[in-house]
Amino acid sequence: MEEKRARKRLVLVPVPAQGHISPMMQLAKTLHLKGFSITVAQTKFNYFNPPDDSTDFQFVTIPESLPESDFKNLGPIRFLHKLNKECQVSFKDCLGQLLIQQSHEIACVIYDEFMYFAEAAAKEFNLPNVIFSTTSATAFACRSVFEKLYAENALVPFNEPKEEQNELVPEFHPLRYKDFPVSRWASLESIMEIYRNTVDKRTASSVIINTTSCLENSSLLWLQQRLEIPVYPVGPLHMVASAPTSLLEENKSCIEWLNKRSQNSVIFVSLGSLALMEINEVMETASGLDSSNQHFLWVIRPGSIRESEWIESLPEEFSQMVSDRGYIVKWAPQKEVLAHPAVGGFWSHCGWNSTLESIGEGVPMICKPFSGDQKVNASYLDRVWKIGVQVEGDLDRGAVERAVKRLMVGEEGEKMRKRAVSLKEKLRASVRSGGSSHNSLEEFVNFFKTVKQIRN
Ligand code: UDP
Repeated sequence: MEEKRARKRLVLVPVPAQGHISPMMQLAKTLHLKGFSITVAQTKFNYFNPPDDSTDFQFVTIPESLPESDFKNLGPIRFLHKLNKECQVSFKDCLGQLLIQQSHEIACVIYDEFMYFAEAAAKEFNLPNVIFSTTSATAFACRSVFEKLYAENALVPFNEPKEEQNELVPEFHPLRYKDFPVSRWASLESIMEIYRNTVDKRTASSVIINTTSCLENSSLLWLQQRLEIPVYPVGPLHMVASAPTSLLEENKSCIEWLNKRSQNSVIFVSLGSLALMEINEVMETASGLDSSNQHFLWVIRPGSIRESEWIESLPEEFSQMVSDRGYIVKWAPQKEVLAHPAVGGFWSHCGWNSTLESIGEGVPMICKPFSGDQKVNASYLDRVWKIGVQVEGDLDRGAVERAVKRLMVGEEGEKMRKRAVSLKEKLRASVRSGGSSHNSLEEFVNFFKTVKQIRN
């Protein structure tokens, strides 16, 4: 009881999207275990309903009056612009209320890099603030380089011929211009405005990143030099503290289906929580998977196929192509699936969480990024860590079949699997006592303990 009374509170501000809520809740759990009280401040969008065992956490709603439909209709970049503008003032009120109500001190505000409105409120109340990056360190650095090149008018325009896009970015090898985190959903100008804001440290005292130095040492050093504030790589956080974080109901029947399959025989196909496919892309994927002769577990999220509710309205051929060796669910317990011995490969859009979860289980990947940081991650999986096959260009059945066979059948895939397993061991070591991420977390926590001593 004594210890509980002495707990300092941290206010956490996640982006309202699955890929950001999960790592923020894992961070919340981790810091709670380290002795902090937790307040999660979220908007009505994708509201994360706390599970029963998080009664220790306080959840508050940041008031705003954006239409419910904005999240779906605007696309992520325009939505984030609007949300940041809208919450600038209301979060100050919200934080002011919290300061009045709290019996114990608020030690700091930790905000997702894309919720940069939170900094102004923390500054107003003289509270330390910390940026939490839920993307990779390389993606963070990339946004910074990208933004600088854009400001200097030195960015190879994205409508240039393909050869120029293939060129390596000076001082940022091995990334090519075409790996830069652009988005299908927004203009270059509005992407740049968001990026300018996410790479601006403002008054932040440090940056926490959901990564580890064995994956991204050089990008971490680069960031440390550029930002000139402590950078704490504390991940992969899903390996530090498991927390239920899913916004959608997980269909666990796929685990029963996997139990009947032999080791490394199944390719798991899942494109995260936001990516959208055209009907013809779904049909080409189904056909390629069918001709690969491998078993596949495929997550098709309702609403993830443009102009189609789910799979009911797809051409009849679809069910013929998937019925023999495929199993389709609307949402899977992804971490459990990746940990299953039957899963030998992961066809992914390469969101950062999916990337970390796959490496964390030693599963090699087929990389088909859609937008944003996914291309940076795909490039690293294929060309740096060498545990992924990147599918570039249009998605046709031949490309799908070739990629699946490269990964699931034969020597090349076997070598990638061995490298993935060895990387998994390194990730595990980094979060164990004495490992680099473990030490980084201790340093971060101790920093706030030192602040306490100075104030007392
Ligand atoms: N996920 C899941 N079940 C699914 C598909 C995805 O639990 O069927 C989770 C996945 O484990 C990951 C998150 O959703 O933690 C997706 O985050 P990621 O960064 O990979 O991609 P995003 O959704 O942000 O594009």
